[in-house]
Amino acid sequence: MMGDLFTARTSQAAKDLLGANPIVVLAPHPDDETLGCGGLLATAFQTAGAHVVCMTDGSASHPGSVQWPSDRLAILRDQELVEAIERLGGREGDMTWLGYPDGELRNYDPHPIAERIATICRELGADRLFSASPVDHHADHKATADIARRVAALCPSLRLFFYPVWARWDEPDFKALHGDWPLVHFETARHCQRKADALNAHQSQLGQVVLDAPSGFCLEQEMIRRFCEEDEIYFEVQQCP
Ligand SMILES: [Zn+2]
Repeated sequence: MMGDLFTARTSQAAKDLLGANPIVVLAPHPDDETLGCGGLLATAFQTAGAHVVCMTDGSASHPGSVQWPSDRLAILRDQELVEAIERLGGREGDMTWLGYPDGELRNYDPHPIAERIATICRELGADRLFSASPVDHHADHKATADIARRVAALCPSLRLFFYPVWARWDEPDFKALHGDWPLVHFETARHCQRKADALNAHQSQLGQVVLDAPSGFCLEQEMIRRFCEEDEIYFEVQQCP
């Protein structure tokens, strides 16, 4: 069954990203799950399943908006994430919304957050955890990676993978900065359209919803194309004994 989901050129390492159990993906913000892992998630939803844990509420993407203050924007971003997951083949129940304030994750005690995610992993029987990479420059991405390491320490049988979201485009040394961790390419060509559809669910990030915040974030079409057409990349973190 599983072999049908991969093309002949898919490496064994790429097939090994998905095992017989559900995977858990930590997204610092709503949209990171699709940008970084959309193809992997779409494949997982067709096989053993997947669960997305969204760490922050994404409410800082459009500072200064009067029409979309942070509490209203957070509600919308939650809804957009559910829609994106459904477009990737999952269901609403395949997501946990932690809802920490966007940009402030590092100011919260990581221990109870890691404990909560460890419980999710155990209840699902997950043996692979995917987190945004600490090489990404955004503080929430680094804080998510720190929490992911803590989860892996709590669950010794869990394999941990980091996925760079922005670093792969804006950090020329991103491969070297991941050290000796094995790099795995996951071919996502067959998921290109599904990934684009899921990204389009995040309408507030496409300049289509919040119109009164000139400094607000807008994902350019060229970036969407690159995220959808390029292979996804993962680094398996080698845990210290
Ligand atoms: Zn992010």
